[in-house]
Amino acid sequence: MSHRISAGSGVLALLSLGLLAGCTPSTNAPRPAPAESAFPGLNLGLDQLKNRYQHMYVGKRLRPKKWPNGARVAVALSFDIDNSTVPLSRGTPGSEPMTTGQYSAFDGLPRILRLLDRQNVPASFFIPAVSAELNPEMIPAIQSKGPHEIGMHGWIHENLVDLNDEAREQQLLNQAIEVMTRMMGKKPVGFRAPSWALSPWTMKQVAAAGILYDSSLMSSDDAYDVLLDGQSTGVVELPIGRILDDYAYYGGSSDGSMPSPEMVDRVYRDEFDVAYAEGGLYVLTMHPHITGHRSRALWLEKLIAYMKTKPGVWFATHEDVARYVKTAATVE
Ligand SMILES: [Zn+2]
Repeated sequence: MSHRISAGSGVLALLSLGLLAGCTPSTNAPRPAPAESAFPGLNLGLDQLKNRYQHMYVGKRLRPKKWPNGARVAVALSFDIDNSTVPLSRGTPGSEPMTTGQYSAFDGLPRILRLLDRQNVPASFFIPAVSAELNPEMIPAIQSKGPHEIGMHGWIHENLVDLNDEAREQQLLNQAIEVMTRMMGKKPVGFRAPSWALSPWTMKQVAAAGILYDSSLMSSDDAYDVLLDGQSTGVVELPIGRILDDYAYYGGSSDGSMPSPEMVDRVYRDEFDVAYAEGGLYVLTMHPHITGHRSRALWLEKLIAYMKTKPGVWFATHEDVARYVKTAATVE
C-alpha cells in the first residue's frame, strides 16, 4: 500500500500517521490502571524533582544586542554525517542501512557541498569518528570548500544514555577527539551528542575536554551558558529542536512518505521569519543521507536563497556563533 500523501491533505495525513505532537489516538475503551511502579517520580520530594529537572539548566542567556555587521539574525546550518554508524553501532547491518549510509558519502554530501558553494554560505558538519574513518575523503572534501566547520558527533553514534557507563563514555570521547584531531589537522571545538542524547556525565566530560560549545539541548531558541547542577560549565549551548530537524519529517519509518519538501520548507521558512523578526538565532539540523536527496536539496537551496533576499542575515558556522555570543555584550 502506498503511503504517499497529497499536499492538500498534509495535516490530516500527519494526524493519521501519528506524527503530530500530542496526537495519541483517543479511545473510549477502559484501560487497566498502570502500576504505581510506573511512576517513580511519585515517590520523590520536590527537592529531588528539582535536582533532576535542573541537572542541566539554562544559565546566562546569550542573545547579543546585535549580530556582527548589524545583522538581524544569525543562521547556523548544520549537517550530522551519521552515514551507517547507527546500524553499525547497534549491530544491525542490512543492505538498506548500509547503502543509505553510503549514499550519504557518495551523493548526499557532495551535493550539499556544491549547493553551499553556489550559495556561498558556511555550515557545520558533525561527524562520528568511525563515519569519518570509513569515508576518509569526506573531511578533506568539506575542508576544501569554503569556511565550513567540522565538529564531534561521538565515536560510532553511540547513544550515551543507553551506554550508561561513565568510564566507557570518557574513553570513547577521548578516542573520538584523538581521531578527529588527526583527521582534521586541529582539535574540534564543537560537540553534538549522537541521537541528541546526553548521559548524566556527558556535559561534565565535554566541559573538561575544553570543548567550546554543545549543540544537543533544547531549552531555548537563544544560545545560553549551560549550568550543570547549578554551576556554570562555560560551555555555550547552541540549541536545536525537532521542529528544525530533517529527520523528524523524513527519517525513520516516515522516510519518503512526506508529500513534498515544500511543506517542510514552509515550517523552516516560518521559523526563520520569526527568528528574523525577533533578532534571534536559527539553527537548522540536517543529514546528508536525508536532505542530500535531490528534491530536498532543491528546497534547501530555495530556502537559503529566500533568506538571502532579506537584509542583515548572518550565515555562520556554529563555532563562529559560539565565539561571538560568548564575547559580545549580552542581555540578561
Ligand atoms: Zn546523528
